[in-house]
Amino acid sequence: MNTILLGPPGAGKGTLAAMLKDNFGLLHISTGDLLRDEMKGGTELGKTIKKYVESGELVPDQVVIAMIEKKLSEKNSGSKGYMLDGFPRTTVQAQDLDKILTKIGQPIDYALYMEASLPVILQRLTGRRVCRKCGAIVHIKNRPSKVAGVCDVCGGELYQRPDDTEETIKNRMHVYAEKTAPIVDYYAKQGKLETLSGDEETEDLLKIVAKIFNDGQRTDKIKGSTGH
Ligand SMILES: [Zn+2]
Repeated sequence: MNTILLGPPGAGKGTLAAMLKDNFGLLHISTGDLLRDEMKGGTELGKTIKKYVESGELVPDQVVIAMIEKKLSEKNSGSKGYMLDGFPRTTVQAQDLDKILTKIGQPIDYALYMEASLPVILQRLTGRRVCRKCGAIVHIKNRPSKVAGVCDVCGGELYQRPDDTEETIKNRMHVYAEKTAPIVDYYAKQGKLETLSGDEETEDLLKIVAKIFNDGQRTDKIKGSTGH
């Protein structure tokens, strides 16, 4: 099952990714992580990426796509598919990516778009606190530290990131929706878009995703059998 994950900050994409890994054995491919790993590895590709990053330029699409292709061509032991996270962000990127994925025989089956209502997103993000020293993340209601304002891991000070305030969150969501609309459209036209609600409990979400995957396989079988 090959998927791409879409969704604004705070919609619960991280929870979805963890669930897809644990329950369906999907390999999480975050382009941010891939870029960092490649630079750490010191490969030719890594050196090229580093030049762009250090000069403050965007890494070109073709480099990102080459990196994804490389990752998907590796033997990924035990994984039953992938979930792409953080790419593509534009329709042109989506088209270029589709060509490569078709070439290597691993096309996208589903675009999973995680949506959540504004109050839920606000509750999640405005309650988030980050440790100044070690970067650990807590939530003042959902996952509080033992002592308020103090990190459980290292004793550092917990603070609210300036972009986790109500006003900036609303703005970020608006920007995300505007930027992502063409991509959502692109996969909808291919009949691959599945919208999920981040307001759901994880257990319910699991049932919904399992049904989407099962129905998809059934449709494939029907399509396959009519061809003979
Ligand atoms: Zn800490």
